Amino acid sequence: MRVLMIAPPGAGKGTQGARIAAHFGVPHLATGDLLRRHVARGTPLGRTVQAYLDRGGLVPDRLMQDLVRKALADATTGGGGYVLDGYPRNPAQAWAAYQIATSIGATAQVALHLRTDDDEVVRRLLARAGIEHRSDDTEPVIRRRLALYHEVTEPILTWYDRRGILLSIDGMPDADRVTAAVIPALEARRACHVDRPGPVPELLIAAGAVSCG
Ligand code: ADP
Repeated sequence: MRVLMIAPPGAGKGTQGARIAAHFGVPHLATGDLLRRHVARGTPLGRTVQAYLDRGGLVPDRLMQDLVRKALADATTGGGGYVLDGYPRNPAQAWAAYQIATSIGATAQVALHLRTDDDEVVRRLLARAGIEHRSDDTEPVIRRRLALYHEVTEPILTWYDRRGILLSIDGMPDADRVTAAVIPALEARRACHVDRPGPVPELLIAAGAVSCG
């Protein structure tokens, strides 16, 4: 099973992503976790990205592309699947994800979107802040992450919809109920293999992610 997860911060990507990965026996590749691990280990990449994470900004596309290319290549060696959580987050990344996946013969079968409202995700993230102490779980940074989601991430859902691989699930109920809705819906799409990008939408062209002609 090959799944992309696209949802606002606090929508439950991490929780649902881990459960989906366990259910299908595939790795859960959470870009935020991968980046935080680099920061914790003090690698050159970690030192470069720390400020972006702390401020709730997006890490530059080029760095993300290298990280994701390697993670996906490792995950799919031997024909395995993946749950890619947190990538893509803008039109350029959507196009890069498609190109990377095409080059290794592992395009996503499903782009899973979890729908939530902003007040609920802010409430969840502030509650988590007291437990996990992530540097980006303060209210101003949460608001910035949410604003970025609406501005540059949400628009890419249109592309997945046009490709016929968008699965949009209500992320507002408690985690178990969301899982109970997600797993059967993914099972139903397990046999699907869609590897055509479909018409390149205006938003990818406008963002300079692709050039046509
Ligand atoms: P959340 O979705 O709650 O913001 P994540 O753990 O997925 O949490 O991401 C945390 C941070 O990691 C983001 O705010 C951003 O700085 C960085 N990040 C993760 N994925 C990407 C990505 N695809 N592109 C750029 N930055 C990313």
